[in-house]
Amino acid sequence: MRCLIIGQGIAGTVLAWTLHRRGIEIQVADAGFPTTSSSIAAGIINPVTGKRFVKSWRFDDCYPFAKNVYHQMELAWGTSIWRDIPILRLLETPREINDWAARLSTPGYDQVMAESPSAGSWAGMLPPGLHFGITKNAARVNFPVLLEKFNGLARSEGFHRSERIGPDEAIKMTAQFDFIIFCEGYRAIENQLFPNLPWQLSKGEAILLELDHPDAIAVDQMLKKTLTLVPLGAGLFWAGASFNWTFEDNGPTEAEQRFLEQRLADMVDVPWKVKKRHGAIRPTVKDRRPFLGASPVHPQIYIFNGLGTKGGLLAPFWASHLADHLLEGKPLDKEVDIRRFYS
Ligand SMILES: Cc1cc2nc3c(=O)[nH]c(=O)nc-3n(C[C@H](O)[C@H](O)[C@H](O)COP(=O)(O)OP(=O)(O)OC[C@H]3O[C@@H](n4cnc5c(N)ncnc54)[C@H](O)[C@@H]3O)c2cc1C
Repeated sequence: MRCLIIGQGIAGTVLAWTLHRRGIEIQVADAGFPTTSSSIAAGIINPVTGKRFVKSWRFDDCYPFAKNVYHQMELAWGTSIWRDIPILRLLETPREINDWAARLSTPGYDQVMAESPSAGSWAGMLPPGLHFGITKNAARVNFPVLLEKFNGLARSEGFHRSERIGPDEAIKMTAQFDFIIFCEGYRAIENQLFPNLPWQLSKGEAILLELDHPDAIAVDQMLKKTLTLVPLGAGLFWAGASFNWTFEDNGPTEAEQRFLEQRLADMVDVPWKVKKRHGAIRPTVKDRRPFLGASPVHPQIYIFNGLGTKGGLLAPFWASHLADHLLEGKPLDKEVDIRRFYS
């Protein structure tokens, strides 16, 4: 069997890896667009999200799967991709403190949440008067290293193509491939092989910064309130992200960067230096479920997309699910099958 994967973001990379490991002959094409969601994402895996601290959708399926797949990549490439790193959750209002305690007593949540009497490695860098919770089983997936390593492998083994492939070319290429899978991120909104999908694209911005405090180099927890701060080592942090449903392009904007720095000032009590500013468009979807399945126009052409804000957590489980469908004819889960929009 031969498969062509179009797009080498986190979706295309993890799918290509999965098919490659199962002995399928693959080609991976990427147009090399300079700013992509995968290239600027922090790669945070956060088990509990939202104001109500609810477990991420299908977390108990996706988390062990993701950890295992990223570990396999680490073993194969001799590099570090996955880092277990808890999140120190800042709780400010009585309501937040109550909601955290209430959620903690919900069955199944003691594996992912705990109370924290102190600010841990952030002590001395936070404003006074805060309470803390800890999110366990959180992690960071190093997307840039993962993408670069797989790109190197694909080039050295001769299955990488530096090109943009559109729907018409893809249809012609079905003569050479059993399956063609589009993993284009937000650009799929223009792909007429997958019409009328309920995209709800969102732009996110983030900052790479340096905290000016001697203890910043030793921080070993992420920090979350409105933003998440991710320690990258040597006192550098990724801070983000903003959410915007209306935008002109994918570059950083003055207004959102100001917003990020204001939120940052609510979270830390030390000066910082901005090193880099980022913006990108996420492939977010109205019903917040991935898009998997065959084009209603051509049965050999598939989509793997809609990973939204959680590509790191979702990509491995759903790539394997799609591989089971392509290789073994197993049915797609109705929650992710794009036929939910075409029947
Ligand atoms: C600021 C920000 C922070 C984020 N933080 C996190 C986080 O902490 N954790 C997390 O899990 N997720 C996070 N996300 C979301 C995450 O980035 C996405 O879920 C994920 O990266 C989507 O990956 P993708 O492969 O579907 O799309 P993309 O990353 O957009 O990749 C698509 C690829 O396809 C290529 N391409 C597109 N069209 C074509 C074509 N026709 N031919 C050839 N190549 C093509 C592009 O060049 C690109 O390489 C964040 C997103 C943003 C914007």
